Amino acid sequence: MKKHNFSAGPSILPDFTIKNTAEAVLNFAGTGLSLLEVSHRGKEFVAVMDETRALFKEVLNVPAGYEVVFVGGGASLQFCMVPYNLMNKKAAYLITGEWANKAAKEAKLFGEVVEVASSKDKNFNYIPKGWSVPTDADYLHITTNNTIYGTEIKKDLDVNIPLVADASSDIFSRPMDISKYAIVYGGAQKNLAPAGLTFAIVREDVLGKVERPIPTMLNYKTHMEKESMFNTPPVLPVYAALQTLKWLKQNGGLEVMHKRNNEKAELLYNAIDSSKMFKATVNDAEDRSIMNVCFVMKDEYAELEKEFQAFASSKGMVDIKGHRSVGGFRASIYNAMPIESVKALIDVMNEFTKSH
Ligand code: PMP
Repeated sequence: MKKHNFSAGPSILPDFTIKNTAEAVLNFAGTGLSLLEVSHRGKEFVAVMDETRALFKEVLNVPAGYEVVFVGGGASLQFCMVPYNLMNKKAAYLITGEWANKAAKEAKLFGEVVEVASSKDKNFNYIPKGWSVPTDADYLHITTNNTIYGTEIKKDLDVNIPLVADASSDIFSRPMDISKYAIVYGGAQKNLAPAGLTFAIVREDVLGKVERPIPTMLNYKTHMEKESMFNTPPVLPVYAALQTLKWLKQNGGLEVMHKRNNEKAELLYNAIDSSKMFKATVNDAEDRSIMNVCFVMKDEYAELEKEFQAFASSKGMVDIKGHRSVGGFRASIYNAMPIESVKALIDVMNEFTKSH
C-alpha cells in the first residue's frame, strides 16, 4: 500500500533527494567511497558545500549583502544565537505559538523582551493584527509558520527595525523578499533536508553591534568567514539539501512551488470547510498555513477521533495526528507532498464521513 507521509517534520522529501543521497552514501561523486566516510575538506565535498550555498541563494533570490550559513543545533540553537549576536538591551517578539515562546525565553537571558502581541488567548489559532513595534528594540522576531497550530504569516512584513524570522517550516514554500529581513533561520528538516542541518541567512551589516564577547561557535561571523566549514559540517544533510535545491530549480523554482502549495492547501481546506464531520482550527483564511493544515472533529463527532485516526492509518495516511497542544489532526503538506496524496486524504475523510 502506498504511504502518504503527512509528518510535520522530519517530513516528506522529494524522491529525487532521497534517491540521489542514497546513491552518494554508496558511492560519492565517483570516489568509490561513501559520503559517510569522506573528509569534509576533500575537494569533492568542498564543491558540494559551495554549490549548496550558491544554489540556496539563487533559489531564494538572496540579495547581495547577505550570507547563508549552515550550522548545527537546530532552530532551537538559533533561538539563542539571534539574541547573542543582535541584542543589546531590548528585543521584540511576536508570540504566535510554542516555538515563538521558546525563542523569546532564550532572548530573556540577554535583556528585556517586549511581547508585541500574542495569540495565546485562543490557543494560537490566529495571527495577531494591529500591533506596533517598539522603535528602540534591537530587532523584532517572528515565526513565519507555526508548525503546531497551522497559522502562517504569508507576507514579508515591513517594520522599521531589523526583522528576524524563524522560517523552519515554510522556507522555500514561496518566494520571500529577503531584503525585508535581517536574519531568516530554520531547521532544514521540513522543506530541505533530513535533520541535522540548520540554515541562517544573515544580513552582514546587522552584526558587530553588541558589546559582549560571543563564543566562537555561536558567532555568525565565524561561520560566514569560514564558509560554514569552521568545524565539521553534517555532510549528509548538506548533500541532501543540495539535491532538494536542484529539484526546486528543475521544477520551476519558488513561484511554481508556491502555486502548487496554494492549490494543495486550498483543496484540503475546502474539503474540511464543506465537511459535516471536520472543522479547521484556524478560521481566518489569511492566517491559514499552506504547510500545516490543522483540523478537528466537530463536537458532535468528537468520539470518532480515534476511529478516524485508525481508519486513516489503515489507508496509508502517516502521521496525521495533531500536536498534543491542539489535538485532532494535522496534515503537513510540504513542497514534496504531491497533490495526489492530498486528494487521497480527502477521499479517506469522505469515505469515513459517508460510513457514519
Ligand atoms: N521553529 C519551528 C517553527 C519549528 O517547527 C521547529 C521544529 N518543529 C523548531 C523551531 C525547532 O526546531 P529544531 O528541532 O530544529 O530545533
